Amino acid sequence: MSIDDSNQLLKTIANLLANGLETKTEPFPETDKQFADVLTELRQLDQNDIKGKLVVGGFVNHPYGPDQYRCMECMYYLVHRKWCDLPELAVPVEPDWWCRLWRI
Ligand code: SF4
Repeated sequence: MSIDDSNQLLKTIANLLANGLETKTEPFPETDKQFADVLTELRQLDQNDIKGKLVVGGFVNHPYGPDQYRCMECMYYLVHRKWCDLPELAVPVEPDWWCRLWRI
C-alpha cells in the first residue's frame, strides 16, 4: 500500500472510531486459544472489510484499561509506518490507539 493510500485509510479509520463505531473490546483474549479464536473470526472477513476488522478487533481510539495499553507498546506495531503488522489486521493505526489483539 502506498503512503498516500495508508494515510487516507488512517483518516477513514479515525473517522469511523471518532463517530462512535461500537467495537468488541471485550472479552479480552486471555489465553492462546481465545487469541486464536479472534484471529479465526478475523480471517473470515473480506480483507477489505475495514469496519469488520475494527469491530472484531475491538479497536478504540485511545489508550485502554487501568494500565493504559496502547498500540505503541504492542509487538505488532510498526512505529515508522504507523502500521499494525498483525496479518489478520494489516491496517494503519495511531500509536495511542488499542485493540484486543494487543500483545507485548
Ligand atoms: S494488534 Fe491491536 S494493539 Fe497491536 S498494533 Fe495492532 S491494532 Fe494496535
